[in-house]
Amino acid sequence: MGEKTRMTRTVYVNGDYVPENEAKVSVFDRGFLMADGVYEVTSVLDGKLLDFAGHCKRLARSLAELDITNPHTDAEWLALHRELVARNALQDGMIYLQVTRGNPGDRDFVFPPADTPCTVVLFTQDKPGLADNPAAKTGIRVISIPDIRWGRRDIKTVQLLYPSMGKMMAKKAGVDDAWFTEDGLVTEGTSNNAYIVVGNKIITRHLGTEILHGITRSAVLRFAREAQMEVEERSFSIDEAKVADEAFITSASAFVMPVVEIDGASLGDGKPGHIARRLREIYLEESRKSAV
Ligand code: PMP
Repeated sequence: MGEKTRMTRTVYVNGDYVPENEAKVSVFDRGFLMADGVYEVTSVLDGKLLDFAGHCKRLARSLAELDITNPHTDAEWLALHRELVARNALQDGMIYLQVTRGNPGDRDFVFPPADTPCTVVLFTQDKPGLADNPAAKTGIRVISIPDIRWGRRDIKTVQLLYPSMGKMMAKKAGVDDAWFTEDGLVTEGTSNNAYIVVGNKIITRHLGTEILHGITRSAVLRFAREAQMEVEERSFSIDEAKVADEAFITSASAFVMPVVEIDGASLGDGKPGHIARRLREIYLEESRKSAV
């Protein structure tokens, strides 16, 4: 009731393409019991995958960091993504991919033998007009909250409870999202990387174990440098952010999204800044060109 009717999706589970209501994963799955799994989200525009090579590379790295054998080659991953796009006639949206350590047949803290097959799930998320998100015109508002996540945020694990709670804290505060802070310094957003602009300089936290190495971050910084924009990769404080000229976030599904308010402080004239707007345009243009 009240729910938008949509077609039953075809999802991928461990080698099979099945209707979403027939897809099954074991109750003993390590992803379910222990959040022992990793994921990727790749955007699709006009039926094509954005930044696909980057997502494949990070997936391989996340798996290697957790000693999970990568079940597929990059070419196989690409074929799976494309098949799912085709079977669901996806134009604009995302492909969600998850790999877990699989089903050892019981619950145990000790990892199962390395030859235990991992669980592989992929599904589509239909987002018509993904690139024309009206929020990009107004910008979003964020609050800061303490970063109490684990110490290996560079691994893209499915431990998303605290980021999800952060989103709810933002919602409760009447804003759009939250930025995590640690020792007064901004790490990243709940599901995105965080940036400020001071003068004409784009500032974003350097890579390390404290943040996820965003695929969009990497592309956006490359495009910024190619466009002769000044980029500085360093920590910045929430106090510095509140008086910055502009701010924005990046992620595979939000692309470049301007931030116009931080902890109640309005940035610049309260409208999306020109650097954020320009970077959004460049990112969309360039990533569409290299989409596969
Ligand atoms: N940081 C966190 C914590 C995230 O969850 C995400 C998106 N999953 C990002 C950054 C952005 O990464 P990407 O650009 O690869 O989507």
